[in-house]
Parts: sequence; structure tokens; C-alpha cells
Amino acid sequence: GTEGQAFKPINKWFKEAGKSAGCVTTTRITHATPASFAISVTERWLEDKIAEKYLEEAYDVMLGGGIEHFLADKREDGRDMVAEFKNKGYHFVQTKEEMMGLPMDDKPIMGAFTESHLPYTLDHINDEELLTKVPTLAELTDTAIQKLSKNKNGFILQVEGGRVDHAAHSNDIGGLIYDQVALDDAIKVAVDFAEKDKETLVIITTDHGNASPSLTGSGRSYSESTEDFKKFHNFKRSNTVLMEKLKENNSSSYIKELISDATGIELDAKEIEIIQKATYESFYQDVVRNQRSLIVALSDVIGKHLAVTWANTHHTSDFTELAAMGPGSERLGGFVRNTELFQLMTSAAGVETNVPSFAEATG
Ligand SMILES: [Zn+2]
Repeated sequence: GTEGQAFKPINKWFKEAGKSAGCVTTTRITHATPASFAISVTERWLEDKIAEKYLEEAYDVMLGGGIEHFLADKREDGRDMVAEFKNKGYHFVQTKEEMMGLPMDDKPIMGAFTESHLPYTLDHINDEELLTKVPTLAELTDTAIQKLSKNKNGFILQVEGGRVDHAAHSNDIGGLIYDQVALDDAIKVAVDFAEKDKETLVIITTDHGNASPSLTGSGRSYSESTEDFKKFHNFKRSNTVLMEKLKENNSSSYIKELISDATGIELDAKEIEIIQKATYESFYQDVVRNQRSLIVALSDVIGKHLAVTWANTHHTSDFTELAAMGPGSERLGGFVRNTELFQLMTSAAGVETNVPSFAEATG
């Protein structure tokens, strides 16, 4: 807080009220969103430390990426957090098979399935090895709900489609759409549970907009816009993977084949040249986006084929969408401050707190 005091995170309020609590994300499980629901630290990038804090709190289920913050040979202090979690009575899972085979007993679950973030959905669904090893966001959500809903006193679960944000930072339209759909699949899991349960409040929102992707008119009388946009159906790789490959080979013939294989788009000579030049960092700096040249070149060239444009490569400051269903949702007005959702969630669940509402705190 403003005076250096540590806030008690919402998951902890729920645990102290006898309820269960968990977090699910496609980012590292130690990343900002799950960490802010679960623990309190001074700096979001202290992710080794955040992993240690999770051990102290013993939340019922935490699932995502980021095994690097738990492994002795990856952590700065050399602590084997996987062993420490297991010693403390956790199930620690690192593959989809291990997660699916979990007994739903009283032990808390920690799961980290990749070294850093989980793969973009686009890369995930087109890679047999990743598909076998890494669960989808919907599968993670389903496991978490099964675990948490065993508590008759209720639960809180935070689910994040975190790589939608990363795709937007990369102005990657394929990456963004497929991860948004993966989030949609996870929302269905939550909504299906809530409709059956009838006592669950589901809130769907985001912490901010990002990069303002926009559909632009294409063709005579804009008649080609829809057909252009539909090209994302052929996409098979995120721009992040393409950029990795372009580091190794930037010949014209390779660029042509790479983009054709990954997107189904046949680039002309001029477009190939733009991407090739952009593999040299200094070329094609964009005044507004002020970003690495290759991100900008790839998104502009590919975006032109899809009739998609981007405003920038960072978070926006506009209002965000908020949707809710279930008990408590009727209390939401047309315009809600983000800080008011804490009160909504705790009071809807019958969790008493001594935290002043935003209106009380600011007079
Ligand atoms: Zn971001």
C-alpha cells in the first residue's frame, strides 16, 4: 500500500473463511495475475520468491507454466522447490497425464507444465509433443473446479488467458485469436459448472486493453474484409515462433516458405524484402509503436493480408468489458471501478473483510 503495508490477497481472505482457493493461468504460475490473487510481495518480478510464498500459503490448486522458478538448477538460490512442495504434502504435477491422473484427495495441487509461459494455443495445437504434455486452459480450469468444488463452504478460482496479452504485445493476430478462443473454452467450463451449481458467481473481465487491434475495410466497397480476415483459419504458428526461426535463417526463399507454411499467405517480393530487412534490428522502426522492427514488419505484412491493423504494442488506457452471471451479479451497475470487484466477490461469497470500499476509503 501507499504506506508500505502488505495487503492481504483475496485468496487468503477466502481460505481464512473456510473456503478453498486457487489460480489457473497460461502464463508462469508465478506471474503477476495469479500472484496478486494469492500472495503479497514488493515486486512482481520476484518470481522465485513468489514460488516460496505459495509454499507458505498452501492454496488448494495452482496451475500454469513456469517450472523454472521451482527447479534447483534454474533458481538463483538453488532451492529445490518441487521437493519442498512434495515434502509439504502437495501433489506436484508437470505433465497433462500426471494432472489427469490426480486423485481428488485433500492434498493441495501445484502444477507447472513448461519452463516459462505455456505455449501460445496456435503453437500448442499444432505440435504433437506439446499437445501430449501440456493441458489446455479449459482442461486446467476443469481440474481446478473439480478440486475446489469439493469444499461445501465454497471457493474462489481465478482463471487467466494470459497469453492473449502477450500476443497483443507482439501484434500477433493469429496468436491473439486462438488464445482468446482457448479462454472462451475455459469460460464455458466455468459457466457450465455455475449453471448446474446455481450458487456460483462468474465474473469475466480483463485488467486492461492491449494494442487496440482493429479490423479495417478491404477491397471494393469493403467486400473483401471478411474473406481476408478468415485467413487466420489457416494459421499454424505464433509470430514469436516465426521470429525465432528468422533469427536462424533470413534468406528470401526461406522467408517465403516459412510464412506460407505458417499462415497460408503467399508473400510477394516486396513483402519478403520488408521482413528480411527487418531481421536487421535498425530497419523499419515505427514511430508510434517504437518496437523491435521484426514485430512491426511481421504484423504489418501479415495484417495487410487479413485487413488487421494495430495502434501500438502496449497496454491501452480505455475502459474494459465486464460481464457477470450468478448470485451477486445483479449488484453490478453499468460502470464499475476495478477496486470495487474485491467487495463484490467477498460479499457475494459471504466472506467478511475489514477492508474499506473504494468509496469509503476515498471519501
Ligand atoms: Zn501486458
